[in-house]
Amino acid sequence: MLYPDRFEYARPRNLGSALELISKVRNHLVIAGGTVGVLMLKRRALRPEIVVDVARIPELGGISLGGSGASSIGATTRISELERAAASSASPSSSLLSAAARAVGDVALRSMGTVGGNVSLGDPSNDLPPALMVLDAVAVIAGPGGVRRQPLRSLYRGPLSTAIGPDELLLRVEFREAPARSSWYYGKRTIRSLDHSVASAAALGSVVDGSPVDLRMALGGRAFAAPRALDLEDLRGTRPPAFVDEVVARAKSACSCTSDAYGTAAYKSAVVESLVEDALSTLGVRAR
Ligand SMILES: Cc1cc2nc3c(=O)[nH]c(=O)nc-3n(C[C@H](O)[C@H](O)[C@H](O)COP(=O)(O)OP(=O)(O)OC[C@H]3O[C@@H](n4cnc5c(N)ncnc54)[C@H](O)[C@@H]3O)c2cc1C
Repeated sequence: MLYPDRFEYARPRNLGSALELISKVRNHLVIAGGTVGVLMLKRRALRPEIVVDVARIPELGGISLGGSGASSIGATTRISELERAAASSASPSSSLLSAAARAVGDVALRSMGTVGGNVSLGDPSNDLPPALMVLDAVAVIAGPGGVRRQPLRSLYRGPLSTAIGPDELLLRVEFREAPARSSWYYGKRTIRSLDHSVASAAALGSVVDGSPVDLRMALGGRAFAAPRALDLEDLRGTRPPAFVDEVVARAKSACSCTSDAYGTAAYKSAVVESLVEDALSTLGVRAR
C-alpha cells in the first residue's frame, strides 16, 4: 500500500475561490475525479502543499448536446455521464463521443473520471481529445485574466503538457454539431485491456462514391507525443488510392515512433498504418 505525503485539502464552492487558491499557492494539485491525481499522490510523484478538489464547482458542471446552438460539456462531467448523454442522441457528433467515452478504461473509471481530467491531463493515450479535435472543439479556460477560448487542436504541447496554465482551470469544452450525414470513426489499439493505447484514431466527415469530402482525422496513443489533428485540408479533391496513401504517410510522420515498453518503432508505425486504414475504410473511403 502506498501513502501520499501530507497535504492540505480544499473543496472550493465556486470558481472565484478556486482560482484565487490556485494562484496563491503555487505548489497545488487540482483534482476532479482523482483517477490519475490520487495515484500520483500515492506514488509521491507529486507532493503538493494543497489538493484543490474542483468536482463540485457549479461553473464547471453541466452537459448539453445536440441542440441548435453549440454543444457544451462541463469539465466535471463524469465520463459515464457523457457516455449516457451521448448515447441518447443519434447525431454523428454524439455517436462519436459516445464511442470514445466507452473506450475509456472500465465502468469504475468512467464513473469517477471526468471529461475535464481527461482533456486537461495531456496524456496522448486519453480517448476524448482526438474525438473532440475532429469536432473542432474549443476549450473554455478561466484564469486570473478572465475566460479565454483555445481550440483543442492547439491545446497539446507534448507528453503531459498542455496550454492550460498552472493558475487556470478548464471550464468546459464546446463544439458545433457535425452535419447530420457525416460518418464517424473511433478506434484504439492496446496491448492489454486497461493499458494505455499504442494508437487511437478519430475521424469524421462525408464520403461520396468512395471519395472523401471534408474529412478530419486526429490521432493519439503512445505512438504520439501528444494528441494530434492531421492537417488534411489541402487533400480536398484528392481521390483514393492517392488519398489513402497520403493520409497514412502523414499519420506515420506525425508519429513519434520510438521503441519503448509499448513496442518497437516499427511495430508502432505498423499499428498507426493499420488504424488509419481501418478508419478510412469504415468511413467508406475506397482503398484501391
Ligand atoms: C488504470 C487506469 C486506466 C485508464 N484508462 C484510460 C483509458 O482507457 N482512456 C482514457 O482516456 N483514460 C484512461 N485513464 C486516465 C484517466 O482515468 C482518465 O483520463 C480520466 O478521465 C481522468 O479524469 P479525472 O477527473 O479522474 O482526472 P484527475 O485525476 O482528477 O485529474 C487529472 C489531471 O487533470 C487536471 N485537471 C482535472 N480537472 C481539471 C480542470 N477542470 N482544469 C484544469 N485541470 C484539471 C488535474 O490537475 C490532473 O493533472 C486511466 C487511468 C487509470 C488509472
